[in-house]
Amino acid sequence: MSKVLIVGAGGVGSVVAHKCAQVSDVFSQIVLASRTVSKCDAIAGEIEKRFNKKITTAKLDADNVQETVELIKSVNPDLVLNVALPYQDLALMEACLATGVDYLDTANYEPPDLAKFEYKWQWEYEKRFREKNLMALLGSGFDPGVTNVFCAWAQKHHFDEIHQLDIIDCNAGDHGQAFATNFNPEINIREITQPGRYWEQGEWVETDPLSWSMNYDFPEGIGPRKCYLMYHEELESLVLHLKGLKRARFWMTFSDQYLNHLKVLENIGMTRIDPIDFQGEKIIPLQFLKAVLPEPSSLGPLTKGRTCIGCVMKGIKDNKDKTLYIYNICSHEEAFKEVGSQAISYTTGVPAMIGAMLMLQKKWHLPGVWNMEQFDPDPFMDALNLHGLPWKVVELS
Ligand code: NDP
Repeated sequence: MSKVLIVGAGGVGSVVAHKCAQVSDVFSQIVLASRTVSKCDAIAGEIEKRFNKKITTAKLDADNVQETVELIKSVNPDLVLNVALPYQDLALMEACLATGVDYLDTANYEPPDLAKFEYKWQWEYEKRFREKNLMALLGSGFDPGVTNVFCAWAQKHHFDEIHQLDIIDCNAGDHGQAFATNFNPEINIREITQPGRYWEQGEWVETDPLSWSMNYDFPEGIGPRKCYLMYHEELESLVLHLKGLKRARFWMTFSDQYLNHLKVLENIGMTRIDPIDFQGEKIIPLQFLKAVLPEPSSLGPLTKGRTCIGCVMKGIKDNKDKTLYIYNICSHEEAFKEVGSQAISYTTGVPAMIGAMLMLQKKWHLPGVWNMEQFDPDPFMDALNLHGLPWKVVELS
């Protein structure tokens, strides 16, 4: 019986709140707080309609540590579950330290004025969390999150050493919009327009943005899709924690239509993150662009098709070569039927709920700041099968 304070009422926040409400023996009380409280209230209304369960809502500017400290003191939660934006990570970690509450998020900190996402800022909190006997779990979404757990599970049960890792994220769904992003447009576009980066023989190798691609034949009828090499944050921790790793890469599928729009937006300066003068005010073009694009949470009823996210791992077991593919397929329509959201929010929100559940049940609970692959993957893998993200493992020749 625990109380959770969820921060952020976007696409992912809605799924987390719904999924926590489904597991009421663990999450007996749920408080949903965000900048725009009407979004929290709308989600609370949906949850009451769907599951006949009441959750509480609150208004919060999570950039303001003092305001967050006051809310945490009045709510008195066992855990703060951060599904706001990466910009809020450090402020929320500070508030957790000040009030003695455990912390979980799904994306690593990114300074608003620098499109650079790294764990270094959050890893610096390790000593302070350990000394206060508190836990912070970083990156409990799908990628990062489940992908890290897939690797830990493969390392534990199937390999002596994993030598090559390819994380492949395919969204084979279609929302019918000319251009829209499946999660927060600002964070999404900042990530995709960065140079690619992969890890080889102990070093990072940089590539021009979206300049490398491959075709991958996805299972269960999804078929071949073009995937582009990108840098993704789980690579930073996995290269430290997987034994014998020689190469690690991350790939994501994009349609030609999506890339053509992105190229035009970049060319005309709409993806810039530096302030410009507009009618006597400073505005950031990417934030303006976000304001005119569809909200990810509005894509739920429109999106059809499936996602397929997984890890291909090559390595050795008992001196023999082995290649394994572990993946999940998630249907946009089924996710919408269950919780009113498309599969990108669903595949992030379910693992956030599972990470929180394992922390509250003390199955994953150690003082300090942790990445997902540092814990026993078995209870997480079991929970994925039970809570809507079943996975498959196949040996490839
Ligand atoms: P949305 O933009 O839909 O939602 C973000 C929410 O955070 C909004 O409700 C927003 O409020 C709120 N928020 C923003 N700033 C503040 C603030 N200062 N104080 C309080 N609330 C604030 O994003 P998503 O739901 O799509 O994504 C949520 C998080 O999940 C992001 O960090 C994203 O990077 C991460 N993510 C992780 C994935 C993974 O697999 N690991 C995959 C997809 C997303 P308002 O409504 O007022 O704007």
